[in-house]
Amino acid sequence: MQSKTQDGGAWENCGQPEAGKERDACGEGKIDGILRNFRAADGHVRTDLHVHSTFSDGDNDPETMVRAAIAEGMEVLGFSDHGYTDFDESYCIPRDRIGEYGKTIRELAARYLGQIRILCGIEQDIDGGLPIGDYDYVIGSVHYVNPGQEYLPVDMNRDTFAFIVKEAYNGDPLAFAEDYYRKVARVVERTHCDIIGHFDLVTKFNGNEEFFRFDDPRYLKAAFAAIDALLPYGRPFEINTGAMSRGYRTDPYPHRILRDYIREKGGQFILSSDSHNQRNLMNCFTDYEGEL
Ligand SMILES: [Zn+2]
Ligand SMILES: [Zn+2]
Repeated sequence: MQSKTQDGGAWENCGQPEAGKERDACGEGKIDGILRNFRAADGHVRTDLHVHSTFSDGDNDPETMVRAAIAEGMEVLGFSDHGYTDFDESYCIPRDRIGEYGKTIRELAARYLGQIRILCGIEQDIDGGLPIGDYDYVIGSVHYVNPGQEYLPVDMNRDTFAFIVKEAYNGDPLAFAEDYYRKVARVVERTHCDIIGHFDLVTKFNGNEEFFRFDDPRYLKAAFAAIDALLPYGRPFEINTGAMSRGYRTDPYPHRILRDYIREKGGQFILSSDSHNQRNLMNCFTDYEGEL
């Protein structure tokens, strides 16, 4: 299990508030048009803004992803490699490669202009503070819970999830979910994100309801409270198919009950593949584009 002592240094070390000012000056609103309408002329969604490359934990280098996106007929490809977190450097863009990341994506955007629109985004974990650098957009995500002094991963694998439930939440998986949702409720406030990343990630290994039922009142109360806290920001929630392409789930997150709730309350969605491999771009989008 990956876990690091929570020393409270993550915020200071990430360079805010300077990084925040940069973003406010240069990054706000760059993808507003895309978020309002990401459908191609044929009515299908050909925009995917949640994509990883070898700059963080993806399998393929950025140019390979670009070529695959063009072959798939995509109109907009947004890279969103993992922003820096000093308490866990195992999966994010290394601190000394952050500049190279932006430069590489911008160069690809220029080289493939006319074939595809390429954006440079970042997936920022809530515990990493504001992103370092200037990006077209930010996806705000929660990947860890902090029941004690450690950062415990939400989505590593089934056995790790079960271990955390047992050891950190006294065998109560709903206490894990409640803790996760208390944190998710603050993801826009903490990351200034444009897109709410994989809301409901805590159910990644619960597709068969092994840990709790999706109609359990405690689960729904916690999730609805987080949705209610996030809706006023007006940011779209992802319909994230990443766990489907990796075989963990047969449906995306958030769960259908939560998607219905978000829709009823006037919330917006964006389809995201969370691709870590060129084969998964726009995975299952045609199955869910009717929900947008
Ligand atoms: Zn993520
Ligand atoms: Zn991701």
